Amino acid sequence: MISPVLPTYSRAPLNFVKGEGSWLIEEDGRRFLDLGSGIAVNVLGHAHPKLVDALTTQANAVWHLSNLYQIPSQESLAQKLVDASFADTVFFTNSGTEACELAVKMVRKHFYEKGQPDKIGIIAFEGAFHGRSTAAIAAAGSEKMTTGYGPLMPGFSQVPFGDLEALEAAITDETAAVFAEPIQGEGGINPLSDEQLQELRAICDKHGVLLVLDEVQCGIGRTGKLFAHEWAGITPDIVMSAKGIGGGFPLGAVLATENAASGMGKGSHGSTYGGNPLGCSVGNAVIDIVGQDEFLDDVNRKAGLMRQKLEGLVASHPDVFDSVRGTGLMLGLKCKATNTDIVQAGYDNEVITVPASDNVIRLLPALNITDEDISEAVTRLDAAAAALSA
Ligand SMILES: *Cc1c(COP(=O)(O)O)cnc(C)c1O
Repeated sequence: MISPVLPTYSRAPLNFVKGEGSWLIEEDGRRFLDLGSGIAVNVLGHAHPKLVDALTTQANAVWHLSNLYQIPSQESLAQKLVDASFADTVFFTNSGTEACELAVKMVRKHFYEKGQPDKIGIIAFEGAFHGRSTAAIAAAGSEKMTTGYGPLMPGFSQVPFGDLEALEAAITDETAAVFAEPIQGEGGINPLSDEQLQELRAICDKHGVLLVLDEVQCGIGRTGKLFAHEWAGITPDIVMSAKGIGGGFPLGAVLATENAASGMGKGSHGSTYGGNPLGCSVGNAVIDIVGQDEFLDDVNRKAGLMRQKLEGLVASHPDVFDSVRGTGLMLGLKCKATNTDIVQAGYDNEVITVPASDNVIRLLPALNITDEDISEAVTRLDAAAAALSA
């Protein structure tokens, strides 16, 4: 008999009843060190006092209005994002998938309004993940996500990850945009190099194609910059954000230049909940902290510490781990043992990691994880690896 909850997930038998910073407390009292952060969501850990205060203060004032009315917290969050990024304008969503939907609509409308309605094509990289909507699965194109859901939305194609020659060859008169994650998350922590991102920008410019970066997982301080593409010094046309931007409250955003968004007039898009007062109040608190240079400097320092310790871990367990990859606190361990076995051994040692494709485990700690917790995390991963080899 089918379970009351649609059985699309295979869940670990863990019931966390409380979170404190980088720690999750199981019903039975065990304390787990959380290197998953709800898959790169809880950027400031669990129950951060400033976020709790932002949410509860707003909850006591007004929960939901509608985009028919003024929402000051939405305006201030948009202004902060515009001030801190390439963007001129922002639309708020509730998730990364919805951000992807708008990105698709925005690029098509951009060319439609410019009198080029045939430009509808979107090229993405293999191994990408852009969400679970019909457009997002068509964009990523992976068989795992698309099987049985045909006919797929037309206009999407994929080229091998990072293959810029193939990408340029795939661009036609009908191409509207290239979608790319600066660092693929679900795909297994696969970064595009700064040079690749710069070349991608140049190719898009050469062919009059918009560059859309999916920073749902790698953005909001995760790599040590507010947005990952900043490392490459490039200006995208559109950026999709979500996950970390709400610090654990459902929130997403599409950031765009005025030019990219030029087709989006009144009535062209909307959302009942998108940009609601609760989400935007928390989003403001997140950006007020994560957007500070000192905070990002500290992320970079911690990232160096963690990476160094992980290199040591890999060296101590060459039968279990192959290598460390990633940028900032978006780290992956390419495994020799089966990644899901290592995640399980982590649970046994009360440390939480997240599997990804390509036999990788992801380490996506809270960006304010303490140095002591980084040491403790690697100690626990070491114990997990030792147990697995034994
Ligand atoms: C998680 C993710 C999404 C989808 O976000 P949801 O909030 O789950 O809809 C899209 N793109 C990337 C890169 C992601 O990591």
